Amino acid sequence: MNKSILLAGFTALLLLSGCGKEQDYLVVGTNAAFPPFEYVGGVSGDQVMGFDIDLARKVAEDAGKTLKVENMKFDSLIVALNAGKIDMIASGMTITPERQASVDFSEPYYEATQVVLVNKQDDSIHSLADLTGKHFAVQLGSTADMMAKKYTQSVTAFNTGFEAIMELKNGKVDLVLFDSEPAANYLAKNPELKLISLDFPPEFYGFAVAKSQPELLASINKTLATMKQNGEYDALLAKHMK
Ligand code: GLN
Repeated sequence: MNKSILLAGFTALLLLSGCGKEQDYLVVGTNAAFPPFEYVGGVSGDQVMGFDIDLARKVAEDAGKTLKVENMKFDSLIVALNAGKIDMIASGMTITPERQASVDFSEPYYEATQVVLVNKQDDSIHSLADLTGKHFAVQLGSTADMMAKKYTQSVTAFNTGFEAIMELKNGKVDLVLFDSEPAANYLAKNPELKLISLDFPPEFYGFAVAKSQPELLASINKTLATMKQNGEYDALLAKHMK
């Protein structure tokens, strides 16, 4: 065999295996600081796991693909999706009209709401009106980040909810506005804080895909509907929500 045939064969092989790879993976973007939906843990300590990840694994399986998780800043997820770096966002992301302008969402898979975290001795908040003028810490680019601006000019935004909570513990801000379930999760590990439920509207989480991917969207919705119907969804809820 001469050299050029060998080279052509080798190139074809490379191309083939390259194509195969792209089709075999469902690349899911998340911000793994949002327990119990996504967090870093496991035996190795660096595995991304949680409710969203288990759901995403099933979506991938049903689509005949292997799940691959990319852990990134929450604020970068939509940009990464529309740049084709990831196929789907699974990150406790609330379906909002602003986001629907740039991405498509699956059917809602979880209902949540915002709650307030304060230091235990703080007794100044009993209603939404009491939030006026307070210094908020939030997760950058979250619904809490947008909502906080209705109540105050003092909003400090962090890349993770965890950092926002550290700021509260250090007395640098008055409160953290965060999603109910992750807030309760962090509270369990920080007994010096307390959680206040106020009259915030419900929010619905959805998985996001690029507007150019209607087939993937349909396949996600099909998996969700099946899981809700056959009990797998409830089993995952029981596994992850304490
Ligand atoms: N549900 C909130 C949002 O969509 C927060 C999500 C998150 O921090 N991962 O903005």
